[in-house]
Amino acid sequence: MDALVDLFLPRRCVVCGTAGEMLCRDCDRSLNRLRGTLCERCGAPTAWPVERCRECAGRRIAFTQARAAVVYDEAAKRLVGAWKERGQRTLARVAAEIVDGVVARRDAYTLTFVPADSIRYMERGHNPAQRLASGLGERWNLPVVTLLRRRPGVARQRGLTLAERRRNVRGLFEATRSAPGAVVLVDDVYTSGATVSAAATALRKAGARRVEVVTFARAVR
Ligand SMILES: [Zn+2]
Ligand SMILES: [Zn+2]
Repeated sequence: MDALVDLFLPRRCVVCGTAGEMLCRDCDRSLNRLRGTLCERCGAPTAWPVERCRECAGRRIAFTQARAAVVYDEAAKRLVGAWKERGQRTLARVAAEIVDGVVARRDAYTLTFVPADSIRYMERGHNPAQRLASGLGERWNLPVVTLLRRRPGVARQRGLTLAERRRNVRGLFEATRSAPGAVVLVDDVYTSGATVSAAATALRKAGARRVEVVTFARAVR
């Protein structure tokens, strides 16, 4: 169904609206790739190499490392919005290609993804993070396995402050089966890191020893 929708929609750049490609060359170039010096742990851009940065120091983080392809700016927001709201597979593939161009492939890792956070996605049967994980799995030749689900009854993240988010997400996820030792956890956007850390906690409880987070975009403060 989504593939059909993709076929019949007139192709326009999801960022600037120009007819042609779903992401035109200029907008592709304008996406701000995170290629400079990064915090070793959380992937925040830093002036020089550090093991922990101002953003992640002193926080309990369950993942080994987090990396993202682009800064979550206006252009990235539009791309992610189109891919999430309209469920366009082609865009998830475009996102996977961009991630592949910036983030190094992990050897001997199993890919998994953060489960969808909205009833709407689940009703439609698509999960944006799962689509990105599938695209990366194809490019990196790594298996993609469903390992997590949301626990019912935990409040939504939207509209909460950073501190509230961090408290709210604890216990948000549970593993549906035992996890391999080395897992790449895929999500669309890294905002506070709280969601992926909660997901990593569930994976570690299920047996993962290393959880590396890979997202398409990352909020940069
Ligand atoms: Zn464009
Ligand atoms: Zn950091």
